[in-house]
This record gives sequence, structure tokens and C-alpha cells, in this order.
Amino acid sequence: MRPLILMSCALLASAAPLPKAKIPAGKTFLVIQPHHDDHTTDYGMGGLIAKLVDSGYEGWFIRASNDEKDGAHGYPHNDMINLRESETAAKILGMKGVYSFGWRNDYMDPTPLLELRAQIILLIRKHRPDVVLGHDPWGHYDRNPDHRKVARACAEAVWMAGLPNVHPEHLDAGLKPWRVPHGFLKARVDYGRGHEANVAVDLDDTQVLRKRKAYVAHLNVYAHPSMAKSVRAQLQKEGLTVPDLDGKTDEEAAVLIDEWHMDWISRVRGRENNLPYAEVYWQTGEFDHLPGLKSYIETNTVPR
Ligand SMILES: [Zn+2]
Repeated sequence: MRPLILMSCALLASAAPLPKAKIPAGKTFLVIQPHHDDHTTDYGMGGLIAKLVDSGYEGWFIRASNDEKDGAHGYPHNDMINLRESETAAKILGMKGVYSFGWRNDYMDPTPLLELRAQIILLIRKHRPDVVLGHDPWGHYDRNPDHRKVARACAEAVWMAGLPNVHPEHLDAGLKPWRVPHGFLKARVDYGRGHEANVAVDLDDTQVLRKRKAYVAHLNVYAHPSMAKSVRAQLQKEGLTVPDLDGKTDEEAAVLIDEWHMDWISRVRGRENNLPYAEVYWQTGEFDHLPGLKSYIETNTVPR
């Protein structure tokens, strides 16, 4: 009995609602990811990006790879179309722009970590973000090599950008060191075993709507008309129909079906955390490196 009781407790503990994330005061954020669609996927972060913009933030998206293998076209065509769709999605979410490093998609193991890290440090020092969003380098194994590589480079850059002896040539060029105070980290749950989240970000329906629209902006890889066609054929075989799909082309139906997916996952994460809609993250804070102070100010600060 004892192992069963322990197992039940563990399950209960893992299912406990997460605390609601506080959006830090600030004005700039960077989303640092390998791929054209990583800012809009079902495991994050479109809702949080829309929420930061609604809170007055300005944001930029860094796409580290060239996405040449993502899509049905040849390498250069995939690269260009994925970049354009990434820019459209960033605009839908209210972001200011996209940087593209162009490292070879899925072949990033030989990419020099030092060079990738230096690129990120440069942009951190240029934009001086209050918040950085990215993959969790401390999460469980993710089979995608680009996710692992960029997560590591990002974690190192967030720390090293604040050290004046790291790339002093940036200082000679007029930039200053910058320590990023806040982070929101995610993990792809179906490419490994996910990660441990410590907060739920509550989303309103307008933020979920932008998240849905940003996701389906990636038509090179999502919302394929053939998917809608096969769903319809299957429904017809079973004598069923979905009235909302009636009168729609396969292109329109595919977009709607993928939008429902994004709405669904936002509701599931919300339900798990007693919220209408949510995304979950490992949030890091400005005083994590001073845990004694962090604990003290949690109970000893008052509004000015
Ligand atoms: Zn990705």
C-alpha cells in the first residue's frame, strides 16, 4: 500500500495548480529561439508575448536557425517563406521586429557556441531587455538539437552580457554591460519529458486570439488543407458534420481547426491552474542569485 500512497501523493502534488505569474515591471523583452515558429507554438509563448505587449512592453524576436528543413519546399525556399511568416506572426503578436542569424537548421551541433552566444550578448546589450523568453536549458532532454543549442547559448548570454570583461569590444563600440533581470522558460513537452514549470501565466481571450492567429500565420508548416480534407472525409464516413466547417474551403477549414487546437491547449493549461486560459513557464527573477534577500523582501516590502 505504501508505494501506492506515495505515488498518489506525487500525482496530486504534480497536479497542484501553479502560482500565477506576476508580469515584471519593464519595457523591453527579447524572445530568443532557434526556429521561425518557436514564439507561437502550443507549448508557448504567443499568449505571454501578447500579454507583455498589452503591459506596455516592446519586443523583438531572434530566430537563430535558417529553418531550411521545415516545410515541403527546397532549402532556400523554406528559409525565405519561414522568415516571412515568422515576421507576420511577430507582427500579429505586437512585436517590433525579427533578427535572423541563419545558422543551419537541425545541423547546429557544429555551430560554434561561442559565436552564437556572442551574437545574443550583442543584442542583449543593444536592447537591454527587462525580460528574456526562451527554451529551458535545465529542462529534460529535448530531441531537437537546435532547441538544446540555443537554450544553452541563451542562458550563458543572459548571464555574461552583464560582465564587462566579456566581449569588451562591444563596450568600445558604445554598448554597455546589461544583466537581464527576468526570464520565462518553456520546454517542448512532446520532444522529451518537458520540464518543471513554476508559474502559470493567465491569459485573456484577446491574448489567446492573437496566439491563435500568430500560430496559423505559419502556413508553410501548419494548417495544411490536406489535413482538413482528411478530417472531413473521416467525419463523413462516420455520418458526422461540424457545422462551423460547412461552406469553408479546405484552406479555411484547416486554419480554423488549428486555431481550435491553440484555443484548446490554452484552456487545458488554464483549467489545470484554476484560470480561464494559461501558459506555463519556469520563471526566473532578478533576485534569484540572492535567495536570502529574495526571501526577506517577499514579506518585508511595502508599496512606496
Ligand atoms: Zn523549434
